[in-house]
Amino acid sequence: MATFREISDTSPIRVACVGGGQLGRMMALEAPRLGIQMKFLDPGGVKCPAAQIVPSSSIIEGGLKDGDKIRELSKSVDVVTVEIEHVDVETLEALEKEGVNVQPSGQVLRTIQDKLVQKTHFQSHGIELPPFADTPSKDAIKQAAVTLGLPLMLKSRKGGYDGRGNAVLKTSEDADIEAALASLGCKDTSAPDLGVYAEGWIDFDCEVAVMVVRSANGSETSSYPAVNAIQQNSICRVVLAPARNVSLERREICERLAKKAIESLGAKASGVFGVELFVTNDGKVMLNEVAPRPHNTGHYTQDACVISQFENHLRGVCGMKLGSTKMVVEAAAMVNVLGAPSGTSEDTLKSSNAALAMPTAVVHWYGKQGCRAGRKMGHINLTGSSQAELDGCLSELFALEGIPVS
Ligand code: ATP
Ligand code: MG
Ligand code: MG
Repeated sequence: MATFREISDTSPIRVACVGGGQLGRMMALEAPRLGIQMKFLDPGGVKCPAAQIVPSSSIIEGGLKDGDKIRELSKSVDVVTVEIEHVDVETLEALEKEGVNVQPSGQVLRTIQDKLVQKTHFQSHGIELPPFADTPSKDAIKQAAVTLGLPLMLKSRKGGYDGRGNAVLKTSEDADIEAALASLGCKDTSAPDLGVYAEGWIDFDCEVAVMVVRSANGSETSSYPAVNAIQQNSICRVVLAPARNVSLERREICERLAKKAIESLGAKASGVFGVELFVTNDGKVMLNEVAPRPHNTGHYTQDACVISQFENHLRGVCGMKLGSTKMVVEAAAMVNVLGAPSGTSEDTLKSSNAALAMPTAVVHWYGKQGCRAGRKMGHINLTGSSQAELDGCLSELFALEGIPVS
């Protein structure tokens, strides 16, 4: 029988988190209830979103790839975790060798942060994926256009988010390849390794996401329900829980595939993982990518599930018993609040302020410094005792956020 860490009044669990953006902030909001004290490393220092929740003495200002700062953060803590995968894994791995408890492990983060390594790992574990090819050179890209067909999705191996790091190649003409590489920041297109790989184009019916949570030793794995992850310009815009227009059987296939993928990462894959999936027109389910942390498509869990993804992440990485992932309402939705076209927080806050008057809306504002058009500034969760009840508020919110109803 596994023994789980418990809440203690005399010795709080000290958790250090690399990154203090909105995900870290939402972990910090849950931490005190579980006797957990958090500290953060973030380039924004005391201006980062998490800094509004913890004392300023618990914030270290510095880059997420600054090994010295990660070492400083990791001093005198029980657990080191992350809210983002684009971090210095070499230092995390060195710290583990010195006895620091890093959850999920540096090795797991290393596998995930390079999308080509991630894809290769999942392929070798029998997880269904879009076809892909390593394309270190322009010639390899041309070859991939033949084997995988056009359009071809080129992706940066490292550092991508919100679709930055992806380029769609419509022809294999030199000029188009050069333009695609330039948009991915490849300055020298004759470099020995361009740092990109190619994926076959998937004409999916819809995108689905599943949050998976695992305990520190991998002894327990559970998943939240499969949800629709509706993207606009490669940014998550709306989440519907449970997923609509996907049969219960197909949703269960998504949940099983997501759990299988995370279990394949080994016993040190702990805490929450966001698993993004494609459901194709002919009913196939494929894995798009995995994030080793709470995920935008899991924000609905804050107000729609027994235990949120943020609490379950903390429970998982701290070695505590995991909490229930079940929904407590029939239907839920999450709408991201993106920076208004004017770029002012006053305009951006209009939908949140209007949502204060909606009966089941819960506003989550991130307190980010610097509002910009299109930037994720907050989100609004809606719950309903039926889809029909939810949809009334949802269409109001769509109008406020300028989301077309399709
Ligand atoms: P995130 O912000 O979720 O981390 P990302 O920048 O890592 O995103 P991906 O998830 O790889 O990028 O892709 C972004 C979006 O592009 C996907 O959600 C999907 O809509 C589309 N996409 C990605 N890969 C493919 C593909 N092979 N075929 C068709 N569309 C794709
Ligand atoms: Mg990603
Ligand atoms: Mg993605």
